[in-house]
Amino acid sequence: MDIHEYQAKEVLSNFGVAIPSGALAYSPEQAAYRARELGGDKWIVKAQVHAGGRGKAGGVKLCNSENEIHTACDEMFGRKLVTHQTGPEGKGIYRVYVESAVPIDREIYLGFVLDRTSQRVMIVASSEGGMEIEEISAERPDSIVRSIVEPAVGLQEFQAREVAFNLGLEPRLVQQMVRTLQGCYAAFNELDATMVEINPLVVTGDDRVLALDAKMSFDDNALFRHPHISELRDKSQEDPRESRAADRGLSYVGLEGNIGCIVNGAGLAMATMDTIKLAGGEPANFLDIGGGASPERVAKAFRLVLSDKNVQAVLVNIFAGINRCDWVAEGVVQALRDLEIDIPVIVRLAGTNVEEGQKILAKSGLPIIRATTLMEAAERAVGAWRNDLIQNTKVRAV
Ligand code: ADP
Ligand code: MG
Repeated sequence: MDIHEYQAKEVLSNFGVAIPSGALAYSPEQAAYRARELGGDKWIVKAQVHAGGRGKAGGVKLCNSENEIHTACDEMFGRKLVTHQTGPEGKGIYRVYVESAVPIDREIYLGFVLDRTSQRVMIVASSEGGMEIEEISAERPDSIVRSIVEPAVGLQEFQAREVAFNLGLEPRLVQQMVRTLQGCYAAFNELDATMVEINPLVVTGDDRVLALDAKMSFDDNALFRHPHISELRDKSQEDPRESRAADRGLSYVGLEGNIGCIVNGAGLAMATMDTIKLAGGEPANFLDIGGGASPERVAKAFRLVLSDKNVQAVLVNIFAGINRCDWVAEGVVQALRDLEIDIPVIVRLAGTNVEEGQKILAKSGLPIIRATTLMEAAERAVGAWRNDLIQNTKVRAV
């Protein structure tokens, strides 16, 4: 799960990371009022969306008066901000963060990520802040400082100092940097984060080290341990199809094609999508019903997959181990009856109780296209979708 910049800043500041003063607003009037409360004469108005690259896309504006704040907010509220991280559909702006503008001397990149090779939390930092890390690693790879944290002892002071010195920080700033690094690490570790990114971390004209931007992502499977984090979830920033699935305990990933996929297990989902592509089609999504799926769960999965209007055929691919093919078949039949589905449905079942499953499908009298291998299923799905397409075009042409 991702959270907003202002939320990440609040979380990190509770762990001792210094941030500029700022406040949240839900309307232009409130933003101007917040600026007055903050004081000063220069503010930054920042669109709160779950994506980076806002600055270049017009989502971060420097304002010198309350009037300018009004204008900046009018251009943001209710709009979709399209940055290189949002995809072409963009993300809705419903909140802005008003922050005191600070005089910047230096911009540093600072990230905490999970390094799979060492199976440790890794600090990634660069003296070239402000740029995206992908750009830094392409253009200035020599500027990147990496440091792996040993979980048994946590981030040691000497190690944090070493990172600070490797970034070329002046000795008088090192202590503030150590505090920032240790705060980020503690937040990452204690809150089961998967990513903390501060870009830029700045040194101000008056020698303060401040986080000007902050991003945090959390491990969904650990959210139950952190209710104060899970309540920061903002569904307006998520793909509505994915959040509806998450609410029902199903994992769903939305894609761009027209063949909906209902599968069990992430590995099988990947294989199913690859095979659809190999057969000349494009998956519209995949929905993982997990192990031990009841007929009701399968029917729910259908409802979700079909709520995507791009879906023109559904491929059910189940390899039952813990699952039972007869239950899945019952779910398919139930869904087809209840939902009066008028697009081709292709079912491939294998594993536990496969014979019973096939019988249920056959007895139902429903126009279910059955397949025995994955390749056959994918070819039939693509074929059925194409046929459907031709027939529909003909009808329209008449
Ligand atoms: P994004 O990464 O989404 O573009 P940032 O929060 O990093 O958004 O803001 C973009 C740029 O705006 C920063 O690199 C920084 O130069 C400037 N900026 C952001 N906040 C402030 C601030 N409080 N004072 C001065 N400049 C700021
Ligand atoms: Mg940034």
